[in-house]
Amino acid sequence: MKILVIWLAFAGCAAGAAEWSDAQIQGALNAAYAKYRDLNEGKNADYIPALAKVDAKIYGIALVTAEGKVYTAGDVKSQVSIQSISKVFTMAKVMEEQGTEAIEKRIGVDPTGMRFNSIVAVEWAQKLLGGPEINPLVNPGAITATSMLAGETREGIWNSLLGFYSECAGRRLGVDKEVFESESATNQRNQAIGYLMYAYEFIKKEPLRATDIYTEQCSVSVNAKDLAAMAATLANGGKNPVTGRQVMKAEIIPGVLAVMAIAGLYDDSGKWLYHTGLPAKSGVGGGIIAVAPGRFGIAVISPPLDAAGNSVRAQKAITDISNALGANPYRVLPR
Ligand code: GLN
Repeated sequence: MKILVIWLAFAGCAAGAAEWSDAQIQGALNAAYAKYRDLNEGKNADYIPALAKVDAKIYGIALVTAEGKVYTAGDVKSQVSIQSISKVFTMAKVMEEQGTEAIEKRIGVDPTGMRFNSIVAVEWAQKLLGGPEINPLVNPGAITATSMLAGETREGIWNSLLGFYSECAGRRLGVDKEVFESESATNQRNQAIGYLMYAYEFIKKEPLRATDIYTEQCSVSVNAKDLAAMAATLANGGKNPVTGRQVMKAEIIPGVLAVMAIAGLYDDSGKWLYHTGLPAKSGVGGGIIAVAPGRFGIAVISPPLDAAGNSVRAQKAITDISNALGANPYRVLPR
């Protein structure tokens, strides 16, 4: 009997999300929600003053399948700022506009092994490795990616970027003005990073404008459902499975997911991949998205972070749910 149950679990995994019943998927979300609801670990980010004030109790889970079915548990209405999760979609937009090699050539697709806002990482890559050896999910690479977006005016670039994020989420997104102002008033380090990338000619012009747009992109407000739809767009070959609109070309997705796999959870990306096998991205606002290619996108929002800067509850809940649904692509049965 036990063997049959295990076999069924693996068979479900191989066959795709459609093979999992609504009750199984909803059950996995409910179980993870209940298990971590009272967990009291971690702390809101406070280096951006507005983030310290966000309600630490917000806890929402959403999963959107590649067929466009939506499952939720907990608070999926409250919004937080998207923060670093935005980096994934800016990278994708640059690849959409300039081709899959643009990011690899200008920025790099390798892990830095250092904090997301490390200046040493830039120096190290430049002096010792000799060039584009970082990635677009750490701030120097992310600000460079933002500087590469097509458009002449700040307004034009911004409207196009917000439109792209909105297409991925399936609704018109907006900016949390308080977070944007708070982060703008305290982003001197990111400005210095922008200038450093300009000095090394990764950024070709107007580094402060790129940093400003980057800061605004980090301030976009999202709920767990928005983030899950964005992740599901990546899981479904660039087509938002809820709206049915092709937001980006399918050919850029493998590169986007590869960079998420190597750098999505900062210094803990290796540990994360070890336990889930899923490309993911976290933000200091408390969100994490993960992508089960061809199956589903999942997102959890919960602001308290661990020492590496990743939401404590979100990591635990996504790991439980994706493993319960057999989503680790590295786990296969021998033939
Ligand atoms: N806007 C934040 C920053 O640049 C994003 C950081 C993050 O989410 N890791 O510091």
